[in-house]
Amino acid sequence: MIRRFLTTMPPVSKSFDLIVIGGGSGGLASARRAAEFGVKAAVVEEGRWGGTCVNVGCVPKKIMFNTAMHAEMLPNYRDYGFDVEMKNFNWGHIKSSRDAYIKRLNGIYDSNLDKSKVEKILGHATLTKDRGVQVGDTTYSADHILIATGGRPIFPDIPGAEHGISSDGFFELEDLPKKTIVVGAGYIAVELAAIFASLGSETSIFIRHDEVLRTFDTCISRTVTENLEHGGVKVHRQTNVKSVQKEANGKLTITTVTGDVHKDVECLLWAIGRIPNTDNLGLENAGVALDKKGNIQVDEYQNTTADKIYALGDVCGKALLTPVAIAAGRRLAHRVFNKESNLKLDYDNIPTVIFSHPPTGTIGLTEAEAEKKYGKDKLKVYTSNFTPMYFAVTEHKEKCLMKLICVLPEEKVVGLHMVGQGCDEMLQGFSVAIKMGATKKQFDDTVAIHPTSSEELVTMR
Ligand SMILES: Cc1cc2nc3c(=O)[nH]c(=O)nc-3n(C[C@H](O)[C@H](O)[C@H](O)COP(=O)(O)OP(=O)(O)OC[C@H]3O[C@@H](n4cnc5c(N)ncnc54)[C@H](O)[C@@H]3O)c2cc1C
Repeated sequence: MIRRFLTTMPPVSKSFDLIVIGGGSGGLASARRAAEFGVKAAVVEEGRWGGTCVNVGCVPKKIMFNTAMHAEMLPNYRDYGFDVEMKNFNWGHIKSSRDAYIKRLNGIYDSNLDKSKVEKILGHATLTKDRGVQVGDTTYSADHILIATGGRPIFPDIPGAEHGISSDGFFELEDLPKKTIVVGAGYIAVELAAIFASLGSETSIFIRHDEVLRTFDTCISRTVTENLEHGGVKVHRQTNVKSVQKEANGKLTITTVTGDVHKDVECLLWAIGRIPNTDNLGLENAGVALDKKGNIQVDEYQNTTADKIYALGDVCGKALLTPVAIAAGRRLAHRVFNKESNLKLDYDNIPTVIFSHPPTGTIGLTEAEAEKKYGKDKLKVYTSNFTPMYFAVTEHKEKCLMKLICVLPEEKVVGLHMVGQGCDEMLQGFSVAIKMGATKKQFDDTVAIHPTSSEELVTMR
């Protein structure tokens, strides 16, 4: 009798004003901001707090970028008069300090949720037919639901692809591979290939066309491709992998579509794209539609096709960047819970940095996009190509390239693209100016800071 009662008992349920699915950049920012407005909020997370950025994205990647920059700078120290030499690089050392730092961050994210009084729910969430959110045996309900489930890397559908790793696997490597092939031409491929090469792995990058970063301004795709080669990465153009075979010694043999064979590869890294985490979410139960590319379809206010269900960040497939997910998440909380009815994220002029070697900074339209939008005769384009003063006394020289795209007659700056030492840190301030609609004259009216590379941006002729 008691047994029958237990099995027919309805599942436990709890209700919230807001349930967020996904404790990554966008989800956490939105839930905590909503809680500031007195909202009873919960976040469901199936992995580690902080999502992609903290665990397998921006944060560990930047630490490895910094590590690689040290390796690149070491030879210059001699030119500056220091008697140093690189005797050994210990990958395991930086991996364990990096992992410890990330663990600390996971803890900080966890306790920040407690401080904000946001309820933490661990497990995989699916939407149910009656607008509930099911996690394990428990079904929760909420007036508002936010989907911020991010995305994941893809593998190609070819024999032996599983012997390769993705960017997630990069952060699990216990040692620097002796020989590496990175497949892909996007920013993740570029960044990771440069890290491998700088730290001493014999590195190749396989790209389908002739240049990396093909959606960026041509000055960037060309320069970053050249810089990869100067940095020791062998660029294999027009190259597609046909199959991968794991040999008895654990090394990989990779055969390309054109029949080239690459042996003794210790690490094959696929960086060929990411897909949104939309499967096993019960979207069909809740009436949440996908767009043609399989991302969650949202309007400019992050509303999905279902009432009071929102989505943002990588799962929507637009501007896959942490600050974009955070900004969209916070604005959504203000709009829905703080009566700021028109607040939404403006997706124009989002600054982006690629941690190439040297780094790339870009905001606004590419020259091709600007020509299409305004016409070639309405544009004035300024470029500068110089050697930063850091390299004045070093044997190794590196160029810095800058391009400003301005629209006539007032020369409003609609695009800024640069590759060179320090460009990563230069971009944020200039992006404020561009977001405000600055003109070339206003750039020029600003007194330069000498001697810096950034002064070039206010003195271009
Ligand atoms: C290698 C790499 C480097 C990057 N570098 C940068 C950079 O330098 N700068 C930058 O701005 N961006 C960078 N990005 C992109 C950035 O990490 C993402 O844009 C950002 O993390 C997206 O945030 P999000 O909230 O949309 O999703 P995520 O941060 O991915 O969070 C989604 C969370 O949802 C959870 N989840 C998924 N499904 C469910 C479910 N059904 N139930 C419960 N939980 C679920 C996941 O476990 C995950 O924790 C990088 C990405 C990668 C892969």
